[in-house]
Parts: sequence; structure tokens; C-alpha cells
Amino acid sequence: MTDVAERLSAIDAAIADAARRAGRDPAGITRIVVTKFHPASLVRELYELGVREVGENRQQELSAKTAELADLDDLRWHFIGQAQTNKAGAIRRAAHAVHSVDRARIADSLDRATFDDSVLDVLLQINLTDDPGRGGVAPGDLESLAEHVLTLPTLRLRGVMAVAPLDEDPAAAFARVHGYAERVRAIAPDAGWISAGMTGDFAEAIAAGATHLRIGSAITGPRPAQG
Ligand SMILES: *Cc1c(COP(=O)(O)O)cnc(C)c1O
Repeated sequence: MTDVAERLSAIDAAIADAARRAGRDPAGITRIVVTKFHPASLVRELYELGVREVGENRQQELSAKTAELADLDDLRWHFIGQAQTNKAGAIRRAAHAVHSVDRARIADSLDRATFDDSVLDVLLQINLTDDPGRGGVAPGDLESLAEHVLTLPTLRLRGVMAVAPLDEDPAAAFARVHGYAERVRAIAPDAGWISAGMTGDFAEAIAAGATHLRIGSAITGPRPAQG
């Protein structure tokens, strides 16, 4: 087995373990492999190992890789980075799901960027810190953003996304996310996705009900220097 294959199967075993400890069915958990800064060839290798969900956090890299890998037509691309309104069209053309909708303006731009009759899956990114400069909607504005997204015909509100703060126990942070997810579900009953958990904290995220994990370096290996 290659290093990537070994790491992938070790992480999948750890995910299944964490799910069992939490009394959950591992089949209810989607493992997204975050491939940012790695070449398209690595994504192709992951695809050959059975990976069908990948994540990118920069629009240009997402667009370049989706173009290069257009033959992998059942590969699903998740955009997980901060989204700029002037990039909404490019993001929409390349991504199947956008995890980082955190304000009405970006939701509007993604909606207006529709180019066919498809519906784009979106998640509301929640800021778990007190620093408004970090990505994410403040928890107090979550319901109004959810209500706004529900008015946009080409977006499908799927749930919430969050990154655990560095200075907080991830279990406590993800417990808060679970509560925020419930608040969104009260408005949008179908929006059941919880995108949470990365290399360092996916077990805690699973214990708190995460449905979508975004795991990078534990599977891909260390990221090359950021360009
Ligand atoms: C890079 C990134 C990840 C994956 O991080 P790892 O620690 O390498 O698993 C997950 N979520 C977001 C938003 C990221 O930018």
C-alpha cells in the first residue's frame, strides 16, 4: 500500500471507532478529504482509492483542479474556504457544496451565479470565536441568515459548518455547534448536516453529532508550502 492508502484506511478505522464509541452508525458520517495545496495527481490517487468527496479552500485552486480532473465525474467538490462575492460564479461552477456561507451577500451572489437548473448545497458557517475577523456568522445572526438563504431558489440549505477555536476544548465547542444546528433545523427541518471535525478533533466532532468531517493532513500528509 502507498502511504496515502495506509493513512486513509487508518483514518477510516479511527472514524468507525469514534462512531461506535458514540453509539453512531459510521455510514451516517461523510469523510471529506481536504486536498488544498496538494496537486491534482494526489486527488486522482485518492479517487482511485475510492474517495468521492474532496474539499478545497481557495477558489483558484478549486477551479484549476476541477478542470484538470473533469473526467472524474462522480467526484464531489466541497468549497470550505472564505468565499468572496466576486468569485461566486467560479465557485458555483466548480463546487457541489459550499460550506462557508456566512452572510446574506455571499448567499445572494451564489444564487445569482446560477448557470443551469442545478441547485447548490450550502451550509452556514458559524463563528465560534469572539473575533469577528474569523469567518462565520455570529451565532446571534444565525436564524436570520438561515431564513434569508431559504428565500433563494437555487440554493439548498443543508446545515451548518464550524471550525473549533484553538483556545477552546473541541468537545465543548462542538457541543455548542450541535445546539446551533438544532436552531437551524427548527427553521429548515431538512438542514441536518453538521460539518465539523478536522485532523486534530474529528473524534470529538463525531461524539457531538458531526455528519461531515473535513480531514486534510492526517490523510494527505503534510501540506506543501503555501503559495
Ligand atoms: C485545511 C482545512 C481543514 C483540514 O485541516 P487538517 O487539520 O489538515 O485536517 C478543514 N477545514 C477547513 C476549513 C480547512 O481550511
